[in-house]
Amino acid sequence: ADRPYIVGNWKMNGTRAMLSEARAIDRTSQRVMKVEVALAPPFTLIHAVHREVEQIGVGAQDVSPGADGAHTGDISASMAADAGAKFAILGHSERRQDHGETNALIKSKVESAIEAGMRVILCCGETEETRDEGKAESFVARQLKSSLPETLDNADEVLTIAYEPIWAIGTGRTPTVDDIGAMHRSIKALLVDLYGEEMADQVRILYGGSVNADNAKELLAADEVGGALVGGASLTAESFLGIVLAA
Ligand code: 13P
Repeated sequence: ADRPYIVGNWKMNGTRAMLSEARAIDRTSQRVMKVEVALAPPFTLIHAVHREVEQIGVGAQDVSPGADGAHTGDISASMAADAGAKFAILGHSERRQDHGETNALIKSKVESAIEAGMRVILCCGETEETRDEGKAESFVARQLKSSLPETLDNADEVLTIAYEPIWAIGTGRTPTVDDIGAMHRSIKALLVDLYGEEMADQVRILYGGSVNADNAKELLAADEVGGALVGGASLTAESFLGIVLAA
């Protein structure tokens, strides 16, 4: 299989004091070439992290849709790319919840980011209620169908999917390995439908939600799982590298 892709999402955390963590993550990652490591710090640190690191990828946690212009407080994909972001996490459930982001808005962000030459990590995932109703897979399929671009070139460089069940984010709870495998197969089937087998094969599907150094090996073992999107455990080099080394 592919190199596992381990991405840290710092969310709304991080000042320049945390640059030493990024440096330490980068230094060790240079020796673990079998894993692809990346960090998404807040916008305010993208350029500084980009300058500190040599090996790992640096990305943004969001971008605004559309071109530069009169949108006070927004950051466009081309601005994030200029600061050093090579990818953007889009459609995270916290942005859907805190900012009312819809699938349609997320789709326009996806298109803007790809246009700016960034790789997109598109997030999806169900609430606990939806899972209990047995509708998790159909819900996630609908999210993705409404937020993915119609066509895709160079899928491996352009698109990664992150399955993050909302009830597993920051809770210490995780789905079973079987449930993760089933969801990832369902997402893969949708990608085959949309883009054909050859393209779909190039899209990595990550799992996110309470991944830590202790559970990473088990959660990442399934064939369908291409890596992890990590929140809380990415905030220190020690805990994040524990996951990188377990991958
Ligand atoms: P935690 O790893 O803190 O559960 O967060 C997961 C997440 O939302 C990453 O984007």
